[in-house]
Amino acid sequence: ADDMVVWVHPTTPNLSLVIGTDKKLGLNVYDLKGKRLQVVPDGRMNNVDLREGFMLAGKPTTIVAATNRTTRSISLYRFDPAARRLASIADGMLETGMSDPYGLCMYRSAKSGDYFVIANDSVDGKYRQWRVLDRNGKAAIELVREIAVGSQAEGCAADDELGQLYIAEEDVGLWAYSAEPSGGQSRMAVDKTEGGNLTADVEGVAIYYGENGKGYVIASNQGEDDYAVYRREAPHAFVGKFHVVANEALGIDGSSETDGLDVVSAPLGADYPAGMLVVQDGRNLMPAQRQNFKYVSWQDVMQALE
Ligand code: CA
Ligand code: CA
Ligand code: CA
Ligand code: CA
Repeated sequence: ADDMVVWVHPTTPNLSLVIGTDKKLGLNVYDLKGKRLQVVPDGRMNNVDLREGFMLAGKPTTIVAATNRTTRSISLYRFDPAARRLASIADGMLETGMSDPYGLCMYRSAKSGDYFVIANDSVDGKYRQWRVLDRNGKAAIELVREIAVGSQAEGCAADDELGQLYIAEEDVGLWAYSAEPSGGQSRMAVDKTEGGNLTADVEGVAIYYGENGKGYVIASNQGEDDYAVYRREAPHAFVGKFHVVANEALGIDGSSETDGLDVVSAPLGADYPAGMLVVQDGRNLMPAQRQNFKYVSWQDVMQALE
C-alpha cells in the first residue's frame, strides 16, 4: 500500500469511498468499512488523487489520477458515483517522460478553472505539472511547468482555494509553492528537519479545508512514526504532532512508517463527525498483516491536539 484519496459522496456521507494504491497491482476502491469494492489491476500505481467537475465530453466528471510505474505514465480514470467504480478515460498512454513516476497530486485552479496533474520522478526528484485536456471526449495531459525540488521527494498536495502547492522533500522538510503553472521555482519553508519539528523522511501531505481559508496541512513525519499539523493559512504555524495508536477494542494495529495520507473535512456520518483522516500503515504487528490503510476520526485528532 502507498497512497489513497477520499471521495466524498455529495448527498449520502456514508457512501463515501477511499481509493488506494497497491504498489504491485493497481488501484483498489474501498467503502467506509474497509471492504474492497473494486480492483483495477492496471500497473504498479504509486500515488493517487482526484478532483470533481472536470468537463469531459460535455459532462462534469470526477477525475482520478495515479502515477503508473509499470508504464511510466499517468493513469486517468472517471469515477462513476452511481456504480461506485473507476473506468479509464485516458486518451492512449499519457507519457510522463520520467524514468520512474512517483509522487502525485492534483490541482484545480480557482483562477483559471483549469485542472492539473503534478507528479515527480523518484530518480531526480523533479516535479512536472500538466494541464488536463479534453481531447475528443478522452482525457489528455499537456506539460506546463517543471519544479526542481533539490533531492528525493514524493508527497504533495495542492490547495485549490489558496493556490498553494505543498511538497515534502523527504530529508529536508515541507515546502509551499504556488500551485499555478506560472509559479516558477520560488517557495517558502513550512518546516524543516534541521532545526525544525520534522524527522526524515517527510512523506505524505494533505489539506483539511476549514471555512474562510482556515484549516490545516498535515504531513507524515515518518522518522517519528507520527504526523505534523500546521495552520493552512500563511505563515503555516506549527500546531503539533500526533500518533495513531492501536484500537485494542476493535483489534486494529496502530500506524507507523506512513507514506501517503489524505483528509477530508466533510462530516462522514456518526463515526467521522468532523471529517476523516486516512493514513497508510507501513507495518502491521497486531495482528501481523500486510500494509494497509487506517481510518481515523478527525475529531480525535483535534481532541489530541487540544
Ligand atoms: Ca517516500
Ligand atoms: Ca520513506
Ligand atoms: Ca511511497
Ligand atoms: Ca501498524
